[in-house]
Amino acid sequence: MQAITMTAPPGYIESYYSATAKGIVARAPLADTVDTDVCIVGGGYTGISAALHLAERGYAVTLLEAERIGWGASGRNGGHVGIGQRKGQAELESMVGKETARTLWQYGLEAVDLIRTRIGQHAIDCDLKDGILHVAAKSSHAEELQQEAEMLQRDYAYEKIRYVEQDELSSMIGTGRFFAGQLDTGSAHLHPLNFVLGLAAAAVAAGASIHEQSRVVKITGGANPVVETAQGRVRCKHLILACNGYLEGLAPSIAGYIMPINNFVLATEPLPDDTARSLIRDDVAVQDTQFVIDYWKLSGDKRLIFGGGENYSRKFPADLKGFVRKFMLKIYPQLSNTRIDYAWGGTLAITMNRLPRFGRTADGVFYAHGYSGHGVPTATFAGQLLAEAVAGTAERFDVMASLPKARFPGGTLLRWPGLVLGMLYYSLRDKF
Ligand SMILES: Cc1cc2nc3c(=O)[nH]c(=O)nc-3n(C[C@H](O)[C@H](O)[C@H](O)COP(=O)(O)OP(=O)(O)OC[C@H]3O[C@@H](n4cnc5c(N)ncnc54)[C@H](O)[C@@H]3O)c2cc1C
Repeated sequence: MQAITMTAPPGYIESYYSATAKGIVARAPLADTVDTDVCIVGGGYTGISAALHLAERGYAVTLLEAERIGWGASGRNGGHVGIGQRKGQAELESMVGKETARTLWQYGLEAVDLIRTRIGQHAIDCDLKDGILHVAAKSSHAEELQQEAEMLQRDYAYEKIRYVEQDELSSMIGTGRFFAGQLDTGSAHLHPLNFVLGLAAAAVAAGASIHEQSRVVKITGGANPVVETAQGRVRCKHLILACNGYLEGLAPSIAGYIMPINNFVLATEPLPDDTARSLIRDDVAVQDTQFVIDYWKLSGDKRLIFGGGENYSRKFPADLKGFVRKFMLKIYPQLSNTRIDYAWGGTLAITMNRLPRFGRTADGVFYAHGYSGHGVPTATFAGQLLAEAVAGTAERFDVMASLPKARFPGGTLLRWPGLVLGMLYYSLRDKF
């Protein structure tokens, strides 16, 4: 059967999210010289959330986005809003000590709360639903999930998580392929593009100026940075870089600590109610425990939104539908006759140790990026911490900025070959 898809609004890539975007407003490119308190580069969760928090605090804010709001990872991701950090608490405790691990746990809870609060406060229509189910792709992972759930209940008094035995799990996700699960009803999932569009509308209502199609091509640092686009410039007191996987050459001194990688997603045709329920009984989001994870959920109109596969080049695979579909069919062979309506890719930034990178450059430019696949909550929260830091209350920002960091071997230019080898090694371990 011929695929039926709706087209994307101008300037957005074709995806299920862009086809179902709500509240897209064209925001004029920067066309002259502007003086402002804070200039923000990048219109994803990091930049837009910072703009909203700063405008609420009374700062004059100008945000420059090279493409459209949510054009980057924030408008393309899986929409999973996970509790905690990208790393589990046990690992965090050994990486940064118990006290900091506890603080990070608290930040993780606040990040998810912040998303729920913003959605409620600004009436953002983005299909928010509760629950993420982690599923063990290997038998050894089942024990890890169980231990982690017990640890969170015992040491962190977190009651919203429970271990799920294999029999029950099979009835929850329509496959016996996984060994056990861990259900976290404090986590959530949403329509990622509609969330960032709603945040942008709130930022503008609070007084922020947003310019789309305004790629920053030059930054002159110092006490009063000047930021230039092809047609205009912004003179500001504070500058925030919020470009994540799309930072490229804009800030070479910080780029070597993150690596852009690509991840891919598809959306099936809308499924009959009983089929949808047979795949995900309780409408939670699901993600497995592989190094390169497969993740899935149902959209508001009951399509399966399935993410699977990565690559580490500057190009996406030519046949994206076929590329992601093979991961989906390994789990759900019963969908072999289901039409794939959309497939798309996005670029995110990872760090060597998978802890996010927050900081200030030698010139005093603030940045936050490298959320390593946990950016829906962490980037949204980063916006709040960036705003606090600009306002002079940097305690929480500094906790994040002081987390261990490591440069990718090979620096800005030569880090790719090492990354590709490393990632291939770990993705092969997923297979065997
Ligand atoms: C396919 C995929 C699936 C994912 N799934 C999940 C998930 O389920 N859960 C989760 O927590 N995380 C997920 N992530 C990660 C998450 O999407 C990101 O961490 C998060 O969106 C980062 O937000 P951001 O605002 O920092 O960056 P982005 O949303 O990427 O925004 C950066 C913006 O900066 C702009 N920009 C770059 N350079 C310039 C310039 N010179 N001038 C002006 N603008 C510029 C870009 O155009 C872009 O819009 C996923 C990512 C991808 C790609």
